[in-house]
Amino acid sequence: MNRYRGRFAPSPTGPLHAGSLVAALASWLDARAHGGTWLVRMEDVDAPRCVADADQLILQQLAACGLVSDEAVVWQSQRGDFYQTALDRLVAQAAAYPCACSRKDIDAALAAQGLARERHHAAVYPGTCRPERGGLRGQAARAWRFRLPIETTVHWTDARLGNQQQDVSAEVGDFVLHRADGLWAYQLAVVVDDAAQGINHVVRGEDLADNTPRQILLQRALGLPTPSHRHTPLVLGADGEKLSKQNGAQALDLNHPLGALNQAAAVLGLAAATGTVPEALAGWTAHWASTICPPPPCSTEPLP
Ligand SMILES: [Zn+2]
Repeated sequence: MNRYRGRFAPSPTGPLHAGSLVAALASWLDARAHGGTWLVRMEDVDAPRCVADADQLILQQLAACGLVSDEAVVWQSQRGDFYQTALDRLVAQAAAYPCACSRKDIDAALAAQGLARERHHAAVYPGTCRPERGGLRGQAARAWRFRLPIETTVHWTDARLGNQQQDVSAEVGDFVLHRADGLWAYQLAVVVDDAAQGINHVVRGEDLADNTPRQILLQRALGLPTPSHRHTPLVLGADGEKLSKQNGAQALDLNHPLGALNQAAAVLGLAAATGTVPEALAGWTAHWASTICPPPPCSTEPLP
């Protein structure tokens, strides 16, 4: 087995808050407990949602908490050529196709089938522009979509959530790789970058768990390995939704990093620590290695 390589991949849409620190701390502890490498990657493909300098602020916040990337930080906004190469490969093997549908077109096609978009849910793409159904029919391409394989039920095992499955065809449909606004879709960027960085363990917030089957299908289509997954508990805001800027998340207090870390540790089921930040991290790493990540599936590989 390859040596452990994990990552924390925040979107710089604002400073870190109590919820995002949970994923950062869990991914760092899991990497350290395995004697592995921990990377930070800025997921800034959705440029209009990113906030100027939030990336630098996040790195400062992480550093104040003792969490520093073992290798140079990567920005997805600088990696468009790699995403284009992956899309070209998928197109060449007929696993991607152009789509002319607007959101309205998709809703209309679903309504014609007697289906309506569920509240809070993106519409399941009905496959209108699939090549075998006539393709673009003379319209201009807006986006590129992944063409799901015939077997679309994906099973995977999450280190915390256990056995999971999703029928991607029924729940998502052929999903977007390159958006109508010219931006790269999160799914493609994550899969390309995890492979390029040799990531073999993904530890991230539970809100991202239902992206996993789409990413596994993309990995299979591109001939890339699938990492193991652990999805961490979410911190909820006052409205019961995942904590975010919109429901009152505060930026972490850099003057009291141990307080912020203790809050995140509590969400992960770890006891509160006293002393310095390095002492706290060392104690939690030892606990993580002995209890949360038990041998044999998580045994630490000896150094080469
Ligand atoms: Zn379409």
